Amino acid sequence: MGIKMKTAILTAPGRIEIRESGVPEIRNEDDVLLRTSLVSICGSDVHYFSEPRVGDLELRYPIRLGHECAAVIEAVGPGVGRVKPGNRVSVEPAVSCGRCDQCLAGRPHTCRYLRFLGSPGQLDGALAEFLVMPERNCHILPPKMSWTEGVIAEPLSIGLWAVEVAGEIKGRTAAVLGAGPIGLSVCLSFRVEGGRSLFVTEKVPARIEAARMAGATWTGNPLVADIVAEILALEPLGLDFVFECCGQQEAVDQAVLLLKPGGTLVMVGIPIEERISFDISRLRRKELRVQNVRRQNRCLDRAIELIASRTIDARFMATHTFPLGRVQEAFETVFNRRDGVIKAMISIEG
Ligand SMILES: [Zn+2]
Ligand SMILES: [Zn+2]
Repeated sequence: MGIKMKTAILTAPGRIEIRESGVPEIRNEDDVLLRTSLVSICGSDVHYFSEPRVGDLELRYPIRLGHECAAVIEAVGPGVGRVKPGNRVSVEPAVSCGRCDQCLAGRPHTCRYLRFLGSPGQLDGALAEFLVMPERNCHILPPKMSWTEGVIAEPLSIGLWAVEVAGEIKGRTAAVLGAGPIGLSVCLSFRVEGGRSLFVTEKVPARIEAARMAGATWTGNPLVADIVAEILALEPLGLDFVFECCGQQEAVDQAVLLLKPGGTLVMVGIPIEERISFDISRLRRKELRVQNVRRQNRCLDRAIELIASRTIDARFMATHTFPLGRVQEAFETVFNRRDGVIKAMISIEG
């Protein structure tokens, strides 16, 4: 009570300021108080940072962003039994209700009453020294795992889920269109599940390099090459899967051309436009399946395990770290894709 903490607050489009606010308090029996250690900036955070309007949502300032975070448990509510003060955790940012039809059907990620960390109008984000979250949102990190790896587990879990909903991967072929952090997470996950050829396209040169580290067997830049012709020259029958990871109409069109009949288009990217169109004749003649991905469902512990055992090494994604005081510069770096940035981390403590 009366104790203050530092937070980073979006006060207007393109402007983040450090402000003080009260430390949040444990309200529910199963709440925990977390001392935030590291937060990484997600593409969706940058969306909110740069645009006063996202989809049909008109933003109202101030907003506290951030949802990819690792923290130490500082205190626990009376009903908490699984985690203890001192545990280091990766935070699952989606708080589901546990009672609606979706939650009861094992789909908490599409909960009817979902509240998301750092999503305007839902929950204040992780860019703060302290946070309160339910115990069930805290996933314990093994002792040897770094904070960086603990944070990267969250975007990696989305790649694992995208590959899981796609279907049987072993020995099959795929393209990942867009090698941002989520596209790279899909690449790592596809390879871990035994996928064979992995074609990755990306316009930013530094990310093409990263795609190779993530397991791409072929890379191409759609700005300088006809990537559809080049991939089909190598795989004349077409691909089993295409993971659309950039939210661009042009990538959706490429996906429809690249897939073999009966193939699956997995929509992972978040389009800026409200509508995307398909070449319906091709989609129908090839009987393509279109599968959307809404974040992830219960893949965070698996992501932590795969990283801890070094089955997946995703450290190359963490290209930049900024202290909380330089959060504005961190967001600008990611927004402008400056300096070969893939993921920028904000160190909250110290
Ligand atoms: Zn994210
Ligand atoms: Zn629910």
